[in-house]
Amino acid sequence: MITAALIVVWLIVAWALAVRLGRFLRRRPVVGPFATFHAVPDGTRYLVCHNAGVCGRLQTRHERAGDGFWRCTTPGCGHTTKGEDH
Ligand SMILES: [Zn+2]
Repeated sequence: MITAALIVVWLIVAWALAVRLGRFLRRRPVVGPFATFHAVPDGTRYLVCHNAGVCGRLQTRHERAGDGFWRCTTPGCGHTTKGEDH
């Protein structure tokens, strides 16, 4: 009778350990898709591009175009916008 009780207790312990081991094995480190890092070249600024067709008035990277103007570097845009020249 006592032996039967011990076997039942051991079965419960073994089951609990198996569940924990299963959870441990399933826990994998989260490896997601990482964004690529792009260094912003010197002399460029993030300004609002008013070309609604391409950039949709979002902040995009602009390169200096002279006379206080900045040219959007988004492919297919090239819109110039006036900004402070410093
Ligand atoms: Zn643009």
